[in-house]
Amino acid sequence: MSLSCNCSQVIVNVDIPEATELHQFFSQQNVPIEAISGQLITAVFTKSSTFRKVTIQDVANTTVEELDRIPQKEKEPAKTKMFFVRSHVLSSPNQGDFFYPACSNPDCKGKKMKKDADQMDPTLRCPSCGGTEMTYRYMASLILADYSSSLFVTAFDSAMTALLDKSAYDFATLDENSRRESISEMTFECATYRIRASVPQQGDKVRFTLMGMKRIENWEKEAGSSLRAIKSYMNAFGLK
Ligand SMILES: [Zn+2]
Repeated sequence: MSLSCNCSQVIVNVDIPEATELHQFFSQQNVPIEAISGQLITAVFTKSSTFRKVTIQDVANTTVEELDRIPQKEKEPAKTKMFFVRSHVLSSPNQGDFFYPACSNPDCKGKKMKKDADQMDPTLRCPSCGGTEMTYRYMASLILADYSSSLFVTAFDSAMTALLDKSAYDFATLDENSRRESISEMTFECATYRIRASVPQQGDKVRFTLMGMKRIENWEKEAGSSLRAIKSYMNAFGLK
């Protein structure tokens, strides 16, 4: 299988009699599948509870007004809404630029280290505590996608550690090839991604932050869900 960024087609043939029958049914329809997808989705979601009801399109549709209506919780800086979406990382606009040198003092919460203003001294220093003990932390932009849409998200240390399966320090100290390999392993991984929608400050647009991901551990169960979904389609259209 080969995939490119601008033009790829992946065709998966589920070689089971139900899929063949379903395929025949839809190829005989005069109505385009997009026009009846609402009914399909309802059919699947009402019959197969393990399928995620939220799509990337639903997340992307979050509005400032909607978030404004959520009562603000204590200790939380902004009104937020959390989504769990079955999707995958499509790409990263800032490929490779995933980490920054951060202050290792836990009180500084990963502040970005900077050179002194005169630029003569190459030592990186924390602008907050003045420390020079350095570590690395993740900060990446990613595009998450599913069949419905795609979405720009920002991912910080904990999310990227889960996605790449290694700490920012371990990632930053890899050679370029190994880094690229890690990124390509992370890309297209079908999993449940936790996305937070928030409006950090009054007047901002909705921002999306990737908070974490949960890998699919039981593919057998997943396949069972897919089969149940197909059967739900068939029931919904009176095929069985
Ligand atoms: Zn510091």
